[in-house]
Amino acid sequence: MELKKQINTVQIPAIHDKDLRTILDRYGISAKIDNGTINCEFCSGKISWSNIGALMVKNNSIVLCCNLVDCINSATSEKPHGTST
Ligand SMILES: [Zn+2]
Repeated sequence: MELKKQINTVQIPAIHDKDLRTILDRYGISAKIDNGTINCEFCSGKISWSNIGALMVKNNSIVLCCNLVDCINSATSEKPHGTST
């Protein structure tokens, strides 16, 4: 069994809203979704509770992408960057 030491991308394929909210609460993101102040990492569209496609960890912060096929594909194919600052 292989254990990945570094997980840069966390997908939420089919997660219950309640659980998702609990997770995002932990990161202080659910309020941003409520307020409509968080956007898709890829298409910059507004993220709402009904269109969350994936959740990713980038540089120790959480970013979201919407459920458009293109964005999901981008999220799943994205490779971690070495240095982006
Ligand atoms: Zn998007």
